[in-house]
Amino acid sequence: MPQRLGVFGGTFDPPHLGHLGVARAARDNLALDRVLLVVANDPWKKSPERAITPAADRLAMVGALVDGEPGLEVSDVEIRRGGPSYTVTTLREMRVANADAELFLIIGRDLVDDFPSWHESVEIARLASIVVVDRPGYVTDAQRGWKLLVVPPVDVSSTELREQLQAYQRDGSAVSPHIPPAVLSVIRERGLYRRNVDDTVTAPRS
Ligand code: ATP
Repeated sequence: MPQRLGVFGGTFDPPHLGHLGVARAARDNLALDRVLLVVANDPWKKSPERAITPAADRLAMVGALVDGEPGLEVSDVEIRRGGPSYTVTTLREMRVANADAELFLIIGRDLVDDFPSWHESVEIARLASIVVVDRPGYVTDAQRGWKLLVVPPVDVSSTELREQLQAYQRDGSAVSPHIPPAVLSVIRERGLYRRNVDDTVTAPRS
């Protein structure tokens, strides 16, 4: 039987229970052997707009998010490759590394409308079966024939969490329970989100 491999990419700045819920639901509903949470090195669609937390820190946070979760793994493949993170390149590499595997690309519903603007989007859809996961607050008419996976709704975004984390680091304000304690420990230990990450642009190019 070929391995069924889920690829779930993101900026994960920071990772949260919405991400974890998606990865778990994909694993269970699609009978995936493994789900790789692929941490973008340079999320080229976001990095011109705001400062992105260094990739090594985001990798550590995602590692803490999935620690002890059967079948869920953090992947540094895009960080090791460096430069802008193109999903098509990641899928090609996964295909080479896992020749027999069936690939499933998991994306949130908020990304469906923008998908045609992704680098080599037609090729992406050829390399992997695309699975769209439901996300509270987002609707789209464009189903593109892809499978829609309804997951337990977790209404949270990294954007709102970054704002809370700044206040948390500044004066110990409460942080949403959507950030699990293990991830919060990494944030504390590494002193992340101390400054206003949303108003400076320093893209992590390499
Ligand atoms: P930001 O607010 O910084 O734009 P984000 O919360 O959307 O970030 P990403 O790291 O960009 O998080 O998301 C990675 C993937 O997870 C994307 O496919 C996105 O659609 C999906 N996703 C993020 N949050 C949720 C959620 N709450 N429910 C379902 N899918 C989600």
